[in-house]
Amino acid sequence: MKEIFDLLVVGGGINGVAIARDAAGRGLKVLLCEKGDLASATSSASSKLVHGGLRYLEHGDFRLVRESLAEREVLLRMAPYLVRPMRFVLPQGPGSRPRWLVHLGLFLYDRLGGARSLPGAQSLDLRRDPLGAPLRAPGAGFVYADCRVDDARLTVTTARDAAERGALILTRTELVAARRNGEGWRATLHGPDGTPREVTARILVNAAGPWVVDVLHLAGLGTHAALRLVKGSHIVVPRLYPGDHAYLLQNDDRRIVFVIPFEREFSLIGTTELPFSGDPATAQVTEAEVVYLCDAVARWFVAPSRAADVVWRYAGVRPLYEDRARTAAAVTRDYVFDLDVAGAPALSIFGGKLTTHRRLAEHALARLAAYLPEIGRSWTAASHLPGGEDESAALMAELRRDYPFLMADTAERLAQSYGSDARRILGNARRSEDLGRDFGHGFSEAELAWLVEREWAATAEDVLWRRSKLGLVMTPSEAQEIAAYLARVTHGSGSPAAAASAPAGQTAYR
Ligand SMILES: Cc1cc2nc3c(=O)[nH]c(=O)nc-3n(C[C@H](O)[C@H](O)[C@H](O)COP(=O)(O)OP(=O)(O)OC[C@H]3O[C@@H](n4cnc5c(N)ncnc54)[C@H](O)[C@@H]3O)c2cc1C
Repeated sequence: MKEIFDLLVVGGGINGVAIARDAAGRGLKVLLCEKGDLASATSSASSKLVHGGLRYLEHGDFRLVRESLAEREVLLRMAPYLVRPMRFVLPQGPGSRPRWLVHLGLFLYDRLGGARSLPGAQSLDLRRDPLGAPLRAPGAGFVYADCRVDDARLTVTTARDAAERGALILTRTELVAARRNGEGWRATLHGPDGTPREVTARILVNAAGPWVVDVLHLAGLGTHAALRLVKGSHIVVPRLYPGDHAYLLQNDDRRIVFVIPFEREFSLIGTTELPFSGDPATAQVTEAEVVYLCDAVARWFVAPSRAADVVWRYAGVRPLYEDRARTAAAVTRDYVFDLDVAGAPALSIFGGKLTTHRRLAEHALARLAAYLPEIGRSWTAASHLPGGEDESAALMAELRRDYPFLMADTAERLAQSYGSDARRILGNARRSEDLGRDFGHGFSEAELAWLVEREWAATAEDVLWRRSKLGLVMTPSEAQEIAAYLARVTHGSGSPAAAASAPAGQTAYR
């Protein structure tokens, strides 16, 4: 008998996997296809923050800020190991927004979004406060709380939960055609080896991010909504200062540049915002953007920041809903749905943020509920992602107690990457040899097997630059060993040899 899915979700970025997870948890039969790896596009190229978006207040995006702040609380509970609080220092200097305006913004930020577990904003005298130490000319400032997140791991873990609830997740599987027929949508997918596969679904969900309009065309649909593509670039440099707090720098062009502690030894600096046209897969960080970000940091920090220090760089393209704003920075980050019901329904998603993905999925399913009479109730607000039941600080201590052979930084990395599922990877191991081969930096064969078997990893890039950031510290030969291992276990279905180099346009391994 032919299989009919309730939903065919196109796109394995955060929005697609969130809709797949929510829908599968409500008893729907879901198929998600992703043409590359999960999170291989915008959802691994973000600033990696779960935040209200203080600067969106300037553009009057109150709905979005309110929803994002409320979601920050939900996500902190849902995956405490992936979404972790962080303090943001906002120094004031020549050319900054007036102090009263920043004060007002933070006042609102503290009050929008309902109950909160994070501390409120405070004024600072950065000449005296240790948080001013890394700054060139410390003066007045503020500190407030938001959260960091591992964007790619959030996406992959959400996909895992969707799969555990019954969704079929097909990576390296592209939607190449879709047409309405009597039963719904008849779609052609091309799998990893190019073999076509015909599937039928009652509803098409187009979560293709920057490719949302291309997928509309593939499905023979038009739209009233328009997309504005805005490229954002980040660079990674050796740590600029000690401590676990970030800085929010007001640049002289009124743009904001984040400096965020990243992966123990590094600082993440971003982002630029430039209009983009062309294939989003080709977006790269230009030398001019590197100079712009380094200059922004040099203006504020004592530590030098030079283009030559950049160890990694990545660019992503925001798929924003076109609201005719004048500048790229002013375009709304809010999401908009385009529902076509001139036949079997097709729902397309424009815009959105990592922070609002869960709520976006709820809203998307509310829009589709009229066409899915058997749909269950919303359930994700009180849920946990896999591994998210325990406090991560306690978990780290338990891992060190129960697996004393682990190095401290490996225990920390495992706890922050997998939450309580770290125990499932480590199993009954009593010594490091029990975890199989060590590929370097505490990355074991047991962990690699988990990534392949449970997280759809197929290439060294999937492993070293998305599901972990070990690409930052591994040598080319260590990366090559991982690529060779993957080639053996996946029978060459990925392209591990090619993937052993850093992703296009990025600085390679040390
Ligand atoms: C520079 C930058 C910084 C950001 N920082 C933050 C931040 O700090 N916090 C925050 O909350 N948000 C942030 N965002 C926003 C957030 O990253 C995006 O809104 C979000 O990742 C978009 O997810 P998506 O699922 O819509 O798109 P994507 O992640 O791009 O996913 C779409 C997927 O669809 C797939 N696809 C396309 N066509 C097909 C097809 N025909 N068949 C199968 N698959 C297909 C693609 O391969 C892709 O993986 C940032 C964005 C950028 C660019």
